[in-house]
Amino acid sequence: MRFSGKKALVTGAAGGIGQIICALLRAEGARVAAADRDCLAIEAEAILSGDLREQAYADGLPRAAADALGGLDIIINNAGVITRGPITETSDADLALSLGVNVEAPFRICRASIPILADAGGGAIVNTASCWGVHPGPNHAVYCMTKAAVASLTQCMGRDHAHQNIRINAVCPNEVDTPMLRTGFQKRGFDPETAIEELGKTVPLGRVATAQDIAEVVLFLASDAARYMCGALVEVNGGKPVG
Ligand code: NAD
Repeated sequence: MRFSGKKALVTGAAGGIGQIICALLRAEGARVAAADRDCLAIEAEAILSGDLREQAYADGLPRAAADALGGLDIIINNAGVITRGPITETSDADLALSLGVNVEAPFRICRASIPILADAGGGAIVNTASCWGVHPGPNHAVYCMTKAAVASLTQCMGRDHAHQNIRINAVCPNEVDTPMLRTGFQKRGFDPETAIEELGKTVPLGRVATAQDIAEVVLFLASDAARYMCGALVEVNGGKPVG
């Protein structure tokens, strides 16, 4: 029960990784506020549905979570979208969506959370970047750019707010078997099951990550076991070189 008495806000709570983060946090004693566009199917102590591209919603989420839970100790900025292709194939709408969800929303949520955590004597923020935010891969220029922005923001904030006893770190997954990966294969005309099996053969550990593989690292970074980690970018890649 590492999170007994802790209160946590999780974005992207209805997604592949987000659902597992919420379930694991609650199983270890946390009270969870779940945020996503539609989290009616999610079990949590508070449901804060909305669109992260709406500035007022993102700005207000930490206060809403603190009010609903009776405090706030942990923020998991997990929501994300992926835009594929080189920039010559990236529309203005894709750019705005990717920047809005992957960069501006975590920026707003961190900015609003830090004073709340500081007033409570500290806390932990875990952002979700990507291996591709650290070592850019091919044909995902905007996605890589947004995840690099989150990685950089995490390093900056990790340094700037450690003196307030706020630890800010990021998890950087490589490919994870979630709807994000599966819908990408579907859109490109591949059978997701076969494609994920084939992709697994390119990973030294022999398989694509599960959502649980990533969620457990997120929980570690949010826990007291990571009490001396600030501004770290933790790659979770099964040994697969990226870039
Ligand atoms: P997912 O698509 O299953 O979940 C993402 C969640 O974010 C969804 O529930 C979605 O509704 C939510 N979301 C998206 N736009 C939103 C908006 N405007 N307002 C509110 N919620 C919104 O994907 P996932 O694989 O679980 O991804 C979780 C995180 O992990 C993302 O930040 C993603 O970029 C990152 N990541 C995923 C992979 C992968 O291969 N799946 C690899 C590296 C990093």
